[in-house]
Amino acid sequence: MDRDPDCLFCKIVAGEIPADKVYEDEACVAFRDINPQAPTHILVVPREHIARLDAVQESHRALLGHLLERVAHLAREQGLADEGFRTVVNCGASAGQEVFHIHVHLLGGRTFRWPPG
Ligand code: 5GP
Ligand code: ZN
Repeated sequence: MDRDPDCLFCKIVAGEIPADKVYEDEACVAFRDINPQAPTHILVVPREHIARLDAVQESHRALLGHLLERVAHLAREQGLADEGFRTVVNCGASAGQEVFHIHVHLLGGRTFRWPPG
């Protein structure tokens, strides 16, 4: 499985940097964002290091499907499903990506505007 020794989220996945984990399995880890932008703000990341959405290959299809299914499961488990929630995948610097290990933001517990800033 790909890993980048300098990557923050690879270190969190490996348990080398602490995080408030809410879920993990053989393929992904979910943990609370250190700087939450909503009452609930969880990051769901694959264990495999994939830098950004536009690096995704056909071989990642099942993994990405798994990630999104787990996001939906977490949204229900966290009580966000009835009110609605926001999912975000930032890709590249101008989209606001700061950590170059692909992740899905799961945000809930407040009203969101569209278009995003
Ligand atoms: P991006 O801007 O790349 O889409 O999102 C990166 C997210 O990672 C940001 O929301 C940021 O607050 C979060 N983050 C950055 N460093 C850490 C950390 O050390 N621990 C946790 N739990 N979240 C982090
Ligand atoms: Zn990584």
